[in-house]
Order: sequence, then C-alpha cells, then structure tokens
Amino acid sequence: MVVWLFAVLVAAACSGSPPGDPAALTTTFPTTPTTTTMSPASDSPASPTTTTLPNETTLPTIGEATVRLTIVYDNTAYDPRLGSAWGFAVLVEVPGARLLFDTGGDAALLLANMDLLGIDPTSVDTVVLSHEHEDHTGGLAALLYTGADPVVYLPAAFSLAFRDWVAARARAVVVTAPLEILPGVFSTGEMGEGIIEQALVIDTGAGAVVVTGCAHPGIVEVVRRAREILPGEVALVVGGFHLGEATPGQIEAIVAAFDELGVRQVAPAHCTGALATRAFSEAYGHDFLEAGAGRVIEVG
Ligand SMILES: [Zn+2]
Ligand SMILES: [Zn+2]
Repeated sequence: MVVWLFAVLVAAACSGSPPGDPAALTTTFPTTPTTTTMSPASDSPASPTTTTLPNETTLPTIGEATVRLTIVYDNTAYDPRLGSAWGFAVLVEVPGARLLFDTGGDAALLLANMDLLGIDPTSVDTVVLSHEHEDHTGGLAALLYTGADPVVYLPAAFSLAFRDWVAARARAVVVTAPLEILPGVFSTGEMGEGIIEQALVIDTGAGAVVVTGCAHPGIVEVVRRAREILPGEVALVVGGFHLGEATPGQIEAIVAAFDELGVRQVAPAHCTGALATRAFSEAYGHDFLEAGAGRVIEVG
C-alpha cells in the first residue's frame, strides 16, 4: 500500500511529461541533511480532523507595502551557489509574515538552498501548496521536521491521505474558494478541471503580484482570476507557466493576452519551457526577469 501510494505520487509528478533533460532531475546536493524519504502521503497517517478554512477575514490589505520574493527551488539556479532540480518553491515575505509557496521536489535540496540563502526554515509561518504534485510538495515533510510550525493551505482537491497527513502534523487549511490568507495575500481558490491548483495574488503598492506553481489550469486563466480578486494592473507574474508543450502560435497568443491583461513584468520559471521563456524574454525586454533558485525580486 505504501509503495503503491508512493508510485502514484511519482507517476503524478508535474507536467504530465518527463522533465526532458534527465540531468535536470539530478540535484547537486548528494549529501542529505535530512532524510528524503518522507513523502507526505507515503506513511500511515492518523485520522485527525482537517481544519476547514475560515470563509472570510476582516484583515486589512498591505496596500502600499513591498513584497520580497526569493526563489528557493527551481529547475535552474540563478545563484551559482545553489542547487537546482525539477520543481518550484518561492519564499514570499510581506510585512510581518514569511510564506513558503510550494516546497520543491527534493527535501534535502530545499533545505540546503534555504540554508545557503540564510533562510531559517522555522521562520516560515505559512505554507501554501499549489497542487498535489511531488515536485511542489516533496519538501513539506522535511520542512515540518525542522520544527517549523506553519499554517498549511492546500486545495480541497488534494487526496484525503495527504490532507490527513498534513493535519496530523500542522495546522491545515483546506482551500476551495478564493480567500485572504494574510493581509493583502490571497489564494485564487481552486482552479481548473483536471489538475486542480491554487495560485497566490499579492496586493502591493505597484500592483498585483501573481505567484503560480505549475499553472495547470492555464496561465492566462490564473492571471484573469488574479485580476478578479485584485482589479487593476498586474505588476508581476512569477512561477511555472506550464508551456513546455505549447506551440509557437499558442505561445504568441498567451504573450498577447498578458499584454491585454496589463502584466508589466514576468519571471517565468520551472515548467514554462524554453520556447515560451524565449518568447516572453523577447516581448518583455527589460521587464523579463530571469528566474532560477536564488533570484530575489522586490515589488512595491
Ligand atoms: Zn511542477
Ligand atoms: Zn504539476
């Protein structure tokens, strides 16, 4: 049973297609500061109750504040000191809170990169998981075992085994509709019909910042949802755009849609694909921000 669950998780790994370059799967951190065998759904959870999300909050938004994004895990390394592997995780710092959006695939690599970046894992007070693919959830168990005590937001579409596993070890909030996670930091709520996913929308003085894991529901749909939550200009879209198999025509239409939606800067990462990354780079010029582990972006 345990083996079966693990196999299912691995088979469901992001993108529905192999990363392409097998070398991308190889972490440059062979040493393991913590065990990497702690797949969240791969051991026997107790049967705790899962906390249901608070429907509404009355918290104020951060409005004019600055958000600081640090990509801690990506397919490529922006900071040559860091390792890279297929997956994604980004630390989102807003006034008074440190949120980890996704946790990468390899637990040891996540913690090693955080260590090199001087990020204390126990300082993470909130974790948001975009979707139930191992390249986004693989570091969660290791993070919790460091003594971190975050509130973990995960879509209701996650398997019951995973939800129960989290609820047994952390304060779990199951997300369905859009909600304000922290002041000025929103979940899009569950999106998509196949692979269900949530993204982040952050209110800054410079406009909305959209953070996406793999964008399985469609990157344009994610940005549209973000604009419903925070009307106005979109300062930045960062994360996986999931366009590795998109045709040049589809990519061209998506770049045009970004323009129509008022997206000022982009930082495509993870599963965006080389062709789409190049197209965004050409279209956005100086407003194309290279992603990769170790990249720090401040907005606001
Ligand atoms: Zn992914
Ligand atoms: Zn995925």
